Amino acid sequence: MEKKAFQAESKRLMDLMINSIYTHKEIFLREIISNASDAMDKLAYLALTDEKVGLAKDDFQLVVTANKEARTITVSDNGIGMDKDAMEKNLGTIAQSGSYQFKQEIEDQDDSELDIIGQFGVGFYSAFMVAEKVTVVSKAYGADTAYRWESEGIEGYTIETCDKDTVGTDVIMTLKIDENETDAEYGQYLNVNTLADLVRKYSDYIRYPIRMELEETKMKERPEDAGDDYKPEYETVSEWKTVNSMVPLWQRAKSQVSQEEYHSFYREKFMDFKEPLVISHIHAEGTMEYKALLYIPAQAPMDYYTGDFKRGLQLYSSGVMIMESCEQLLPDYLGFVRGVVDSPDVSLNISREMLQNDRQLKLIANNLEKKINNELNKLCKDNREQYEVFWEAFGKQLKFSLMNTYGANKDKIQDLLLFWSSKDNALTGLKEYKERMPESQEYVYYVIADSVEKAQRLPQAERILNAGYEVLYLTSEEDEFVIQMLQELDGKAFISVADENALPVTESEKNEAEQAEKEYKELLDFVKETIGDAITSVRISKILKSGAVCLTAEGPISIEMEQYFKKIGSEFPMQTGHVLELNPNAPVFEAMKNVFETDKEKAAKYAQILYNQALIISDLPLPDPVGYTQLVCDLMAD
Ligand code: ADP
Repeated sequence: MEKKAFQAESKRLMDLMINSIYTHKEIFLREIISNASDAMDKLAYLALTDEKVGLAKDDFQLVVTANKEARTITVSDNGIGMDKDAMEKNLGTIAQSGSYQFKQEIEDQDDSELDIIGQFGVGFYSAFMVAEKVTVVSKAYGADTAYRWESEGIEGYTIETCDKDTVGTDVIMTLKIDENETDAEYGQYLNVNTLADLVRKYSDYIRYPIRMELEETKMKERPEDAGDDYKPEYETVSEWKTVNSMVPLWQRAKSQVSQEEYHSFYREKFMDFKEPLVISHIHAEGTMEYKALLYIPAQAPMDYYTGDFKRGLQLYSSGVMIMESCEQLLPDYLGFVRGVVDSPDVSLNISREMLQNDRQLKLIANNLEKKINNELNKLCKDNREQYEVFWEAFGKQLKFSLMNTYGANKDKIQDLLLFWSSKDNALTGLKEYKERMPESQEYVYYVIADSVEKAQRLPQAERILNAGYEVLYLTSEEDEFVIQMLQELDGKAFISVADENALPVTESEKNEAEQAEKEYKELLDFVKETIGDAITSVRISKILKSGAVCLTAEGPISIEMEQYFKKIGSEFPMQTGHVLELNPNAPVFEAMKNVFETDKEKAAKYAQILYNQALIISDLPLPDPVGYTQLVCDLMAD
């Protein structure tokens, strides 16, 4: 029999498949089943208008069998079939859509070939990843003759007539020999249970039944005359079963799905046993047709913040799984959303021509983003308790995304952020803060501290709190960066309570401070000299109310940020000047002033103690803790 050569451009693809080291070879089954399903779609469509077809929708089915002796897997369908021409055209060349596209993709991307196989699938030729020989026996609808197409790879293929009674196609794959039987790299696919698992994984929602003969171990019926010492006996029975579930949950009308069904689907698919906070079932029609079932989890997976987590939604096209996690469907800040998206609009194209159709995917992604964003805003407004559970799990994700984009997405994220606040010492949203602001308030105030308890007692915050303004407590490391990215809240700038300009200073306050600065110049210089280079200057505070002392930063970098960069061992440490601020109205200031006039040595001890106290208040390490306690003890014993 004459062997025909494959079209030149098919060869490269064949070669790639035959020598594939791609680890997910298992997708071959999905590809062959999808082709069969397409072929049945075509005949089912014909049947609508042509009575002669004689098949109703329910008559179509796929059969998958394995033969261990012959090392073959067979996928049979009763679809439209192929005649000789169709075989030549469809199986001998790469002219068809999917494979051709694939070829274009690999043309310039030698190194990423393997990735592309996973993402796009390569249709019929993928059978050669696992098979050394592929035989296609087919009878086209309306034809009298059946044909057998056969190929052992790159050398070419043969076509001959053969016997086949019914219309449809059998694809018979003879599996490659395993290098070593124990590994059974290819042999594993001869196990029907493995095949059934693959069907469920990739082709669960194919619209036609996929039938397989599965083996099951069952207990034999107890014979009537069995005595007391009867031991149950087992037998292995084979039964024909429909392996796929056909109609996916997300395709059903919302009214047809119970809460429990939504939950158990989530549990099984995403292995999360905590009930999700939000379930969103979307049937979109119009410019973009798609169905989606999305979940907002109540807890972050263990590996969520490690970088190992695979974000993205499962992408289906008309029931065929195309991608386990399609990242493009979710913006970074919503990376925690789990779920599936199924769109017939992108079907036929997306698995294989995805790059070209990126735009369509983007449209869906934009749509989903809006929906999820709305859901979160709604949860935040209507069910604060639940929202705080969400915030606990994924607040960091929102903040990180804001920082990673340098605030570019702040319009979308801003209203979703929560901060601790002086209002009831509870979490608040920025919108709520804004709504409570009195008209006279010019800034949005914040203070940095590692706990709410500390924040509310910080001497720096006192005058703002006393003035009746609400202060945000930035208690997480990243909060200060977040504030920097936001810059302002609807026109009102964020300002640290430690900033002198946070409250307008009255003329008399200003004069008073200047006066004191002059009056105590000698003392202030003395304190600076005593403490040395650890501080850049000492000044009379305009921000302290009852507190005696505090440290503030000189310049735009706060002390907390400086410490943060130090902690992470930043290559370019940020340094800021430390200013020691003293409250001239505090009794201890008076005491120091008196001692300064009579006993300089003692005054130096006072200065050191006050500086150390400022460090403690700011949560900074003491340069010499033992020395400090010694100083305090000395004074106590005095
Ligand atoms: P694609 O499915 O993207 O067109 P494939 O390489 O998977 O590319 O398949 C090539 C063509 O072979 C299909 O388009 C179809 O015309 C034909 N074909 C493959 N399998 C079958 C089948 N089971 N029944 C009928 N035609 C088939």
